[in-house]
Amino acid sequence: MVSTSNLKTTKSEEIFAAAQKLMPGGVNSPVRAFKSVGGQPIVFDRVKDAYVWDVDGNQYIDYVGSWGPAICGHANPEVIAALHDALAKGTSFGAPCYLENVLAEMVIAAVPSVEMVRFVNSGTEACMAVLRLMRAFTGRDKIVKFEGCYHGHADMFLVKAGSGVATLGLPDSPGVPKSTTADTLTAPYNDLEAVKALFAANPDSIAGVILEPVVGNAGFIVPDAGFLEGLRLITQEYGALLVFDEVMTGFRISYGGAQQRFGVTPDLTTMGKVIGGGLPVGAYGGRKDIMSMVAPAGPMYQAGTLSGNPLAMTAGIKTLELLQKPGAYEYLDKITKRLADGLVQIAKETGHAACGGNISGMFGLFFCEGPVHNFEDAKHSDVTKFGRFHRGMLEHGIYLAPSQFEAGFTSLAHTEEDIDRTLAAAKMVMSQM
Ligand SMILES: *Cc1c(COP(=O)(O)O)cnc(C)c1O
Repeated sequence: MVSTSNLKTTKSEEIFAAAQKLMPGGVNSPVRAFKSVGGQPIVFDRVKDAYVWDVDGNQYIDYVGSWGPAICGHANPEVIAALHDALAKGTSFGAPCYLENVLAEMVIAAVPSVEMVRFVNSGTEACMAVLRLMRAFTGRDKIVKFEGCYHGHADMFLVKAGSGVATLGLPDSPGVPKSTTADTLTAPYNDLEAVKALFAANPDSIAGVILEPVVGNAGFIVPDAGFLEGLRLITQEYGALLVFDEVMTGFRISYGGAQQRFGVTPDLTTMGKVIGGGLPVGAYGGRKDIMSMVAPAGPMYQAGTLSGNPLAMTAGIKTLELLQKPGAYEYLDKITKRLADGLVQIAKETGHAACGGNISGMFGLFFCEGPVHNFEDAKHSDVTKFGRFHRGMLEHGIYLAPSQFEAGFTSLAHTEEDIDRTLAAAKMVMSQM
C-alpha cells in the first residue's frame, strides 16, 4: 500500500466534510466522489491547460478533463477570449440567436448522420429527447440498450447503466417504476446474436437501438469488427432506428465522431461534452424527416429555457474551430497511444494482469487479462488494485477518473513531457502495488 503522507489535502478534507452536510454525498454528481477508490475527493481550485490545482495548492496532470469537454485543454485562451466577448452581450436570450446557426452548421457539416439538430443543456437531456423521438417516429415503445452503456440518468435508461451506477453497486435505482423500464430491453455489448434474438421476439415493437459506439462508461471498450455494421443492418431490416450516443465520442475520437471513424451512419445521434467546450450543452440530431417531428416543426414536444444559450454556443463554436486545426486528432492519438500502451506495458513488467487501449484522445486500462468485449468482461478487472493505483497516482500528481469503469481523456494541451511524467509515476506506483 502506498503511503498517503506526502500529499497534503487538509483544506480539501475540510471543504468536503462541510459539503457532505450540504449536498448528498458532498457532490453534485456521484462519479465525483471517491467511493470506489477510497479516500476523499480532491476539491479543485482552478484548472489550466492539462493541469488542475486543488485548494491545498497541489498540482496534478489531469486525465478527466471535466469528463470529456476539456479537449483543447482547460481554460483555453481562445475559448476564454470568445466567452469574454459573448458575455458583454448578455448571458441568456431565450430567443433565436445567430450563434445557434453557426454551431448547428458546424455540427451538421461534421457529423455524417446529422441533417438537423436541436440543442439542449446536457447529455442526459439529449438522450431523453432522442428516446421520445425514436418512439414518436416509429410509433413503437420498446428500445434496445446494452449492458454497461450509460445514456444519462433518465428513468428509462437506468437499466444496466454503466459507470456511476456500476461503481456504486446499484444494479438499478430505487424510484424508477418498473413500468418505465418495462420497454427497455438489454443485450451484452458486442453481441449481435443477442440483438437478433430480441428483434425476432419483438419484430414489430422495437423503436430502435441506442448505444455508445465506443463504450466509455464501462471502462473503455471498442466495438468488434462488424458489430456496428451488423446493428445497422438489423435495425433496417426491422424498420427500427439506430441511435449512436456520441455524448462522449462526438468530436472526441474523430471530428465526426465514431460514425465517421467507423463509417457507419446511424439515424440519430446524441452529443454533449465536447460540443459545449466546458459549458452545459447537449444536442440531438439526425435525418431531416425524423427531426421534423420535433416541435414546433412537428408534434413531438421538447423545450428548454436555456437551450442554445449564447455563452454555451460560443464555447462550443470556438472549441470546434480549434479541433479543425490540421493534425489535432493525430496529435491526440499519438500522445494517448503512448500513454495507454505504456500503462499496459508497465503493468505487465511489474507483474500485474492488464489490458487497455485508446482511440484518439480516449483511453482505458483494466487490471485483468484482456480482451474486454463487454461489461461482464470489464467486471473481471481487479477494482481493489485499481483503487490502489488511483491513490498512488494521485500521490504522484496524476489525476485519474476515480473509477475503474470510466474512460480517460487527454487534450491538445497535454505535452509529451506530461506523458513521460505520467508513465514514470505509473512505474513507481505499480511496482509498489
Ligand atoms: C456523459 C454521458 C451522458 C450524459 O451526459 P450529461 O451531460 O452528464 O447529462 C450520456 N451519454 C454518454 C455516452 C455519456 O458519456
